[in-house]
Amino acid sequence: MERFRMEIESLSKNEELARVVTAVFMSRLDPTLEELDDVKTAVSEAVTNAVIHGYQEKEGIIYMELQAENRQLTVLVRDLGVGIPDVKKAMEPMYTTDLSGERSGMGFAFMEAFMDQVQVESEPGQGTLVTMRKKIGR
Ligand code: ATP
Ligand code: MG
Repeated sequence: MERFRMEIESLSKNEELARVVTAVFMSRLDPTLEELDDVKTAVSEAVTNAVIHGYQEKEGIIYMELQAENRQLTVLVRDLGVGIPDVKKAMEPMYTTDLSGERSGMGFAFMEAFMDQVQVESEPGQGTLVTMRKKIGR
């Protein structure tokens, strides 16, 4: 298994960094452009959630790990932020705790649509771990 780990400061602008690093890592699996776009979108949603919800736009570190084994790509995005009281509910399409009207509650729905598997482990006050898997290439 090939593995790459990074720690990212929780800042909105670092979402792009996470996306680009993921794309470069994943390019060794010889993905199609569509697969690249799908994974980049999913990573972007997970990292944005960590910044906005997990750390509530305050200081924090996002722990990311990329794994490639055969054609299987695994992306882990972890924050040590506020956590999610009800994961099942949070993952429902259009569910959001955002009150500003800026968010549509579609982040988890996109992750699930663009990846083969999305697993969310979370505990209030402990943070959140999102594990996403996708088979790449033919
Ligand atoms: P959108 O992604 O469409 O901008 P959203 O972020 O509210 O809106 P989701 O990404 O689906 O929608 O997340 C749903 C809800 O789950 C969020 O509103 C938030 O309450 C909670 N949530 C998601 N990720 C985290 C996280 N890392 N830490 C704490 N809460 C989270
Ligand atoms: Mg979101």
